[in-house]
Amino acid sequence: MAERKILTIDDDKHLKILRTKSEPVKRVDKKIKELVKDIFDTIEANPAVGLAAPQIGVLKRVFGLKLTDESAEVDEEGEAKMSPPMIMINPEILEKSEEVERGSEGCLSIPGKTGVIERSLRVKVRYLDENGQQHTREFEGWNARVIQHELDHLDGILLLDRLKSYEDLYVYVKDKEGKTKVVPYLQVIEGATKSTGQSKPDLPSKPAKGPSLNPSQS
Ligand code: ZN
Repeated sequence: MAERKILTIDDDKHLKILRTKSEPVKRVDKKIKELVKDIFDTIEANPAVGLAAPQIGVLKRVFGLKLTDESAEVDEEGEAKMSPPMIMINPEILEKSEEVERGSEGCLSIPGKTGVIERSLRVKVRYLDENGQQHTREFEGWNARVIQHELDHLDGILLLDRLKSYEDLYVYVKDKEGKTKVVPYLQVIEGATKSTGQSKPDLPSKPAKGPSLNPSQS
């Protein structure tokens, strides 16, 4: 039981796992509790607001997330207050609002990139907690966004699939002083093609911890 390696799309074998639909949990047994502990440990060890089991190579319908209290005062770093991570097992969206919101999302499995994605503003979710207790709860705004992002992971869907256009994709690049900037992907491709003739931009291999559109990743 410990922090686990996060699979990324840069590795073909990992990508195949990330693209696979996860199986429902039949019983919240010892093995699932160990998985829950690993998800908690991995969230705490990373700049993560959420983490789904397939991201650590386990194809079970389980994810963890830290709820953000958007109404609360921000801390010294200007971040909204986050609760300790919670777990959702076999989550199902019962209702989602037609009202949508566009917002930035990062993903620990997609290093160096962030996208502006449209998500339902509100969702009603039924799930089991790590003790096998069933809950039905409504979430809004950023929390609803994280839940929809994590649920996508359980269905093998990545945020890149949710992009309406490449104009909504951004990459982290380092400027001359070594500061990380968020630059539109299309601009980077254009620059790379012009200066080196390569068709692919040279992307930074590590996810940047802010400054960014939104440093929180899931
Ligand atoms: Zn993700």
